[in-house]
Amino acid sequence: MRIIVTAGPTREFMDPVRFISNRSSGKMGYALAGAAAARGHKVLLVSGPCALSAPRKTDIERVVTAEQMLEAVREALPKFDALVMAAAVCDWRPKHKAPQKIKKTAAPRMLELKPAPDILKTVAPLKHGKFFVGFAAETEDIERNARRKLREKRLDLIVANDVSRADSGFDSDTNLATLLDADGGRNRLPLMSKDKLALRIVRWLEKKASGRGAGI
Ligand code: C5P
Repeated sequence: MRIIVTAGPTREFMDPVRFISNRSSGKMGYALAGAAAARGHKVLLVSGPCALSAPRKTDIERVVTAEQMLEAVREALPKFDALVMAAAVCDWRPKHKAPQKIKKTAAPRMLELKPAPDILKTVAPLKHGKFFVGFAAETEDIERNARRKLREKRLDLIVANDVSRADSGFDSDTNLATLLDADGGRNRLPLMSKDKLALRIVRWLEKKASGRGAGI
């Protein structure tokens, strides 16, 4: 298969040196890209800023903002069979970006925000039989919120993970995840390494693509 994996955070700037972002380390997305490449798939890793180096045999495109990530995904998508959105895309961005560094004395008291593009929603019309996998990082009502995202973003699979625990989600090497698929299937997985979880997700994609019906 040909698989696009997005990873890491995005950054949204208020001036040339300051930005808002989130705690994503990129580990889950890089683990997915590595697992898919190791199983012989062609992988494009679209990565937000993070300290990790590209896994072997993957092509990497580095981006910074949600807008840039959207453009990279949109351009590549026609040549790929699957999109795995593991990136923690910033949902909001500053309404205005100052062209010069804002002086300490001129610091705004309020930061006005506007929504960043929702990448999955924007590329949904290009789906055409491709497989879309998303993540839902939640701190409460995990499964209900994840099911809603699965529907709204037209996903085939969503990986819901509890980011309120120190051993799951942001920057951790392990994840506590529940897999939910578009057919109503659900698999609550035990705490496992991100590498192991990545392999399960890649195997699910392989099964789904082969038409063997992908139980989860
Ligand atoms: O809505 P929420 O951000 O929780 O959805 C998470 C899923 O949607 C993830 O797969 C994430 O990569 C993707 N996403 C996106 N564009 C955004 C925000 C999230 O594609 N602006």
